[in-house]
Amino acid sequence: MTVPTKILLEESELPTHWYNIIPDLPSPPPPVLHPGTLEPVGPDDLAPLFPMDLILQEVAQDSYIEIPEPIREIYRLWRPTPLYRAHRLEKSIDTPARIYYKYEGASPAGSHKPNTAVAQAYYNALAGVRKLTTETGAGQWGSALALACRMFGLECEVWQVAASFDQKPYRGSMMRTWGATVHSSPSEMTNAGRAILAQDPDSTGSLGIAISEAVEVAATNDDVNYSLGSVLNHVLLHQTVIGQEATVQLNKVGETPDVIIGCTGGGSNFSGLSFPFLREKLAGNINPVIRAVEPAACPSLTKGEYRYDFGDTIGMTPLIKMHTLGHSFVPDPIHAGGLRYHGMSPLVSHLVDSGLMEAAAIGQVECFEAAMQFAQTEGIIPAPEPSHAIAGALREANQCRESGEEKVILIALCGHGHFDMAAYDAYLAGDLHDYEYPSEAIESALAQVPVVA
Ligand SMILES: *Cc1c(COP(=O)(O)O)cnc(C)c1O
Repeated sequence: MTVPTKILLEESELPTHWYNIIPDLPSPPPPVLHPGTLEPVGPDDLAPLFPMDLILQEVAQDSYIEIPEPIREIYRLWRPTPLYRAHRLEKSIDTPARIYYKYEGASPAGSHKPNTAVAQAYYNALAGVRKLTTETGAGQWGSALALACRMFGLECEVWQVAASFDQKPYRGSMMRTWGATVHSSPSEMTNAGRAILAQDPDSTGSLGIAISEAVEVAATNDDVNYSLGSVLNHVLLHQTVIGQEATVQLNKVGETPDVIIGCTGGGSNFSGLSFPFLREKLAGNINPVIRAVEPAACPSLTKGEYRYDFGDTIGMTPLIKMHTLGHSFVPDPIHAGGLRYHGMSPLVSHLVDSGLMEAAAIGQVECFEAAMQFAQTEGIIPAPEPSHAIAGALREANQCRESGEEKVILIALCGHGHFDMAAYDAYLAGDLHDYEYPSEAIESALAQVPVVA
């Protein structure tokens, strides 16, 4: 059978449910702890920040959760998304491997993030919330939430990491076009921001700092909630529409993945693609290698410690057991802003720890070389974040050329890079470099992680 370039689904094939992997796991992930009592947090502890529907999804034990029709109605603006066979990329490196990519850049915000933003805005609107606050790294999540809030009539206030606020002014324009308010983080508007600026007036910010600011504002205002674009169970849950569609699409062309690769910042696009396949793996039907690729400059899964730590920089969130570089670690300003997070989702951490998934770290120069190769063969200019997945796929495909193996490689192409052209300019001018592995900074940040027996 000749395989088409683009494998499409009908609108009627849009998933009707999200897939919750937790009940299928051999062991549940460790609980999230209250930082004062070190007891597992209950729904009431999270109620100042999240609506009850999302809190219940966070701890749900059902394998499938129905997607409400108003959410599916918005998903249909761009879903189901295409799965592509990378014929031209394969040919350019003369590999016998077959590479498929699931393209999430087709959403209005340009990434996978609206899959959860729309769901989160919906449940908050249903609960009568007036405004959502959030952080954004590369600007992808802020854009997605701004869009989703607009669709459900909510206000949206975004703290954008200073490094990316300066590098990517048009992400701010996009958020403001959808009606959001955007601040550079650290800002003078919150206790958290002021504390960081007092220590370091030139701070380039980090996701952890921006989370502290957004959480502070939500926690201190009754009609304001907080929204997180990655890491949490309910976020990963919403992203499983990606993998459910990809499962059907690969089935249509009679393929089974041997290797599934995604980039990981907090783990949501990678989990969204891989969890429905992991379900099949746990059931003994398939046995793909499932590999996360992270930046060498922010290597939580490969160099972090698996232990309880705060999700934000100041220490306002519950304690989460995850692979962490230490909550005070501020990564170098690599261009993949969405991957500059000190921690990892507790589910991905648990799965890597239990050997069901694996991880690799790649430097940004190799990633941009891979992104250039991809853009010049497949046409789509990838965001710097999924360039990590592409680089991981090229490593695998190059090995196949040596070994002659015809592996099926599936990757998440989770966003386009149209707002990241400054990074491409830097690459083209020869100004893009790898950062040294920040061992001292990580060591000292890990020394500040709370000790939980
Ligand atoms: C936010 C973002 C990421 C990182 O977040 P994950 O939760 O790990 O997916 C990666 N790629 C893109 C395009 C993003 O917008």
